[in-house]
Amino acid sequence: RKPKKIYSMDEVRHAIHNNELVNYYQPKVVVATGEMVGVETLVRWRHPQDCMVFPDQFIGVAEAHGLIDDLTRVVLTEALAQTKIWEQAGLMLRVAVNVSMDNLVSLDFPDYVAKLAAEAGVQPQQVVLEVTESQLMRDLRAPLEILTRLRLKRFRLSIDDFGTGNSSLAQLRDIPFDELKIDQTFVHGAYANKTLRAMYDASLQLARQLNMDVVAEGVEDRADWDFLHRTGCDLAQGYFIARPMPAADLHDWIDDWHERVSGFSAKD
Ligand code: C2E
Ligand code: CA
Ligand code: CA
Repeated sequence: RKPKKIYSMDEVRHAIHNNELVNYYQPKVVVATGEMVGVETLVRWRHPQDCMVFPDQFIGVAEAHGLIDDLTRVVLTEALAQTKIWEQAGLMLRVAVNVSMDNLVSLDFPDYVAKLAAEAGVQPQQVVLEVTESQLMRDLRAPLEILTRLRLKRFRLSIDDFGTGNSSLAQLRDIPFDELKIDQTFVHGAYANKTLRAMYDASLQLARQLNMDVVAEGVEDRADWDFLHRTGCDLAQGYFIARPMPAADLHDWIDDWHERVSGFSAKD
């Protein structure tokens, strides 16, 4: 990655409204079988001069300047349309989209998301909203209410980066999440590190007891993958399985992955 440049509000607004944002998708697979059950949408900015710009260089700017609703609309609309295209090609997938806490301020948000899904012909059960606290929240009442309404509409809710300062036990108490994503800092290398292992185990147990699906993020090598297998984690995501990719690459990746997975079980 290039040295980090932070973009201005005008540049980010321009990018959002001039179709310079593009969705990449990273597979989520079942650890026990290797089956792909969904993808996470990760936005990139195809900058006319600076090549590919990563979200840490513009999501914060969008949040700080009231542009995050527009950004989420663009990303979600594209992700839903793509999900329909995959479905028509015989690939039934869940699509996850990252939602900023700053999206969860208006009580219209659930109806709005429901309308976009309906227009795209995608069932709410197929849509996962991944939530992180991007900043210290002053007032959690609106986000709680909005997440609860989304859940009642049958959208799936996922708590992202679990175990970091951005995700807390209080959120689990207050919101009926369907999925818990163990942060990558507790996954990669956990098999060889007592402290990481303890946090990974605790997160897994917690999710089990609350009946949530568990996704381990940051699965970077075969040792990480084998560790998830041994510990009975549900789903995995990470560079070992696939890097985030343009939608057009997914079919080829599936073919490669199936071949790799069959190799794993032969050795087990
Ligand atoms: P995240 O939601 O935690 O997404 C996972 C990040 O980890 C992604 O970085 C992904 O490319 C990276 N990753 C995936 N597998 C591995 C691995 O095995 N090892 C390592 N070290 N990293 C891995 P990315 O795409 O740069 O996104 C960074 C963050 O930006 C995301 O973190 C998410 O919080 C935010 N973001 C991305 N797209 C959107 C969006 O559309 N809306 C909002 N509000 N935030 C977004
Ligand atoms: Ca995420
Ligand atoms: Ca994460």
